[in-house]
Amino acid sequence: MTDSEPTGGADASYADAEARSARLEESLHREPGAHRVLTGDRPTGPLHLGHYFGTLQNRVRLQDLGVDLFVLVADYQTITDRDSPDSLPQDVDSLVADYLAIGIDPSRATIFAHSQVEALNQLFLPFLSLLSVAEIGRNPTVKDEMTASGQSAMSGLMFTYPVHQAADILFCKGTAVPVGKDQLPHLEVTRLVARRFNRKYSPDKPYFPEPDALLSDAPILLGTDGGKMSKSRNNSIPLGATADETAKLISRAKTDSDRTITYDPANRPEVSNLVLLAALCQGRKPEAVAAEIGDGGSGALKRLVTEAVNEYFRDIRTRRADLIADRTHLRDTLLAGNARARDIAHHTLTDVRRLMHTTY
Ligand code: ATP
Ligand code: MG
Repeated sequence: MTDSEPTGGADASYADAEARSARLEESLHREPGAHRVLTGDRPTGPLHLGHYFGTLQNRVRLQDLGVDLFVLVADYQTITDRDSPDSLPQDVDSLVADYLAIGIDPSRATIFAHSQVEALNQLFLPFLSLLSVAEIGRNPTVKDEMTASGQSAMSGLMFTYPVHQAADILFCKGTAVPVGKDQLPHLEVTRLVARRFNRKYSPDKPYFPEPDALLSDAPILLGTDGGKMSKSRNNSIPLGATADETAKLISRAKTDSDRTITYDPANRPEVSNLVLLAALCQGRKPEAVAAEIGDGGSGALKRLVTEAVNEYFRDIRTRRADLIADRTHLRDTLLAGNARARDIAHHTLTDVRRLMHTTY
């Protein structure tokens, strides 16, 4: 195992990832049909405005470019750090409803749950053999997630999470994975697995593409407590919240005592976050929103943000409410996505078995 470290993190490797991401973006525009994008979420609660502006909008953009979009309901990843809750089926339905409501179109995109795609999970075994325990353990993002989960002992599934993610990406030969900077070490593991598999089992003609990160420059939205908006932190504004719930949540949002509203994320993160949220919803510059409020104080700011959010998400919320009322449709959508993912995974596993000489 002589490849470069899977968990670089050095500035040089970040600059390299940025350059590759820029080339990838160009290629996605030039030849969208040549790409498969894999993204997804853990079904650990309803998606929120941070997800919308941080990643969901971008997925719809890629879908509309004509890229083959795979959206993963990462249900096995919910048991990395918590017990499988009874609410999992509802959380899965809720996630699918969020996806459809914001514009992911199952006639063009594949929404699937990885627990339902047996052949995908079987790739996990040969992939595990391609990495050393030390390499898997060096991943700083896994360590951070472990700390965040507050658990004292790390499960084997949590430890090997990036390798499972490699199976999620490589089963469909994903070429592009939209990620934030913190996810780069994970993607390095996938690239390493692809490279080593190819070298070991398919040296003449690489079998798996080495996927590139599509780095997001989307802002990280803060929650009502001033920390990163997160499903599990009780600080989020869910996509599906009603107008009244939204008003209540925003009225509780942390601000500061300076009456004059400015956009100054470094020094006034909470106020600036609210300004940014209104700006994103209204398609304006945050500075213009701040100037409009001027010395109207945080009360005026919160009223504006509430109106902007409720206006922007009105149609999405109506669609979501209709979708949630029709669970059969949500399940059918997922079953169809699972079936397509299964076909592809079966095909990949058949090739992998042939290349590994395990076809008997
Ligand atoms: P959990 O609490 O279960 O960790 P979460 O709310 O932090 O959930 P994730 O599932 O960890 O959400 O995030 C999935 C993706 O959504 C992230 O990689 C990121 O792209 C985007 N995202 C999540 N939260 C935000 C946020 N507050 N602002 C911008 N983007 C976000
Ligand atoms: Mg998270």
